[in-house]
Amino acid sequence: MLKNILNIKKDKVFFISITIIIFIIVIFLYKSKQDYSHNYDVDILIKNTTILTLNENSQIINDGWIAIKENRIINIGNNDIPFKNPKTIIDGKGKVAMPGLVNTHSHIALTLLKGVDDDSNLSNWISNINAYEKKLSENDVYWGSLLGEIEMIKSGTTTFNDMYFFDDKRIESINKTGIRAVIDIPFSFENNDLIINSEFLEKYKNEPTITFSIAPNPLINFSKEKLIKINEIAKNNDLLIHLHIEENRNEKNEFLKIHNLTPLQLISNAQLFNNKIILAHSINFTNDEIDYISKQENASLSFNPKSNIKLTGQTANIKHFIDKNINIGLGTDSSASGGSLDIFDHMNFIAFSFRNCDNNNSCEQDNKPIISSENIIKMATINGAKTLGLESDIGSLEVGKKADIILINLKNIGSIPSYDIFSNLVYNTDGSDVSDSIIDGKIIMRDGILKNINEKEVIEQVNLISKKIKSLK
Ligand SMILES: [Zn+2]
Repeated sequence: MLKNILNIKKDKVFFISITIIIFIIVIFLYKSKQDYSHNYDVDILIKNTTILTLNENSQIINDGWIAIKENRIINIGNNDIPFKNPKTIIDGKGKVAMPGLVNTHSHIALTLLKGVDDDSNLSNWISNINAYEKKLSENDVYWGSLLGEIEMIKSGTTTFNDMYFFDDKRIESINKTGIRAVIDIPFSFENNDLIINSEFLEKYKNEPTITFSIAPNPLINFSKEKLIKINEIAKNNDLLIHLHIEENRNEKNEFLKIHNLTPLQLISNAQLFNNKIILAHSINFTNDEIDYISKQENASLSFNPKSNIKLTGQTANIKHFIDKNINIGLGTDSSASGGSLDIFDHMNFIAFSFRNCDNNNSCEQDNKPIISSENIIKMATINGAKTLGLESDIGSLEVGKKADIILINLKNIGSIPSYDIFSNLVYNTDGSDVSDSIIDGKIIMRDGILKNINEKEVIEQVNLISKKIKSLK
């Protein structure tokens, strides 16, 4: 009798357990179906393409697809596509999808002054360019910025880090084109008090593609005490510090005369390395100084070799920066110094110029690149993003990151055949091969046509401005 009762109880427990398990499975299946159906809601699907992820393993996905919802990448895969009704489909057959390029140092509206003084050395160039810059109006800077942004977008750049003036006009141009940018904020000193325009920061704090830096320039004009104040403001407002430093061979002597400190000692004494900091140019650091910089985890180099060679005949000691594992982003500097704003052009220049070859006798045996094609591409993407402190959002194609993606046509004659994508992109491709650009989840360029801006109107306006500039000569 007791045995029977126990058996009935056992059966009852078994029955309840099975019911609970089935219930959990049904709920689980229902939930996963819901999540899956949620994924059908895709804004943009790029398909049939080779994906250069630039993730930690530099994974390349063949016949791949990328799904974008709002401004983020929500899924990446290959072969079967689990999305039925994307709002927009981009067929990437014969193309490479890669992260948008990051330009870590520019002076955007200097597009207006390209070619006005190409044959001067740095000090003459700066004084000549400054004389022209004083005559530029807000409106000129607006059109010059648009011109630069169009050149950048058409050649694959989706983010630039800019140092210039007339900030409202630069921001207006950025909102017009839809590019992503880091903009240096306006500030001044009155009786040694640092004045920043907090209304400016408040007004623009929610811009979807804009973040901010502070750029004490020229650095030689700032005392240690002033730099300490700049550092505090940077810390309190989450600003990058963006510096021109060691841009010419005489800079150390000039700083020693005025500050009794080298440029590196000055910024180090002012504790600037406590903040995220970009050292643009840096052609004249000694190996000991580069060793010191390598111990500052917030510091990155913005490498601008074309501009530096043109104006000084010298570049940053890139081999030592690499050997010391310092993060390096690529910069164009301005159109008036570095030539084009096409990052492919600058990557190509690095690949051809920086071989491990310092004299004619050893060249033949040791003429390997100091930096591989893959690492040059990283410099222009994920490492550029790290330079700007934006690596959690951009710089690689990964689920959860913002959708800043470019497509490059490898069907063009100069890119055929393709054995190694990194090599092909660095040695054989240029900005004119970029066909599509998506920034912050929005299609900014499709099949070479800009979506947000009338290119012809910008060219006409810049031609009018150039007449005024010519008359200043
Ligand atoms: Zn510069």
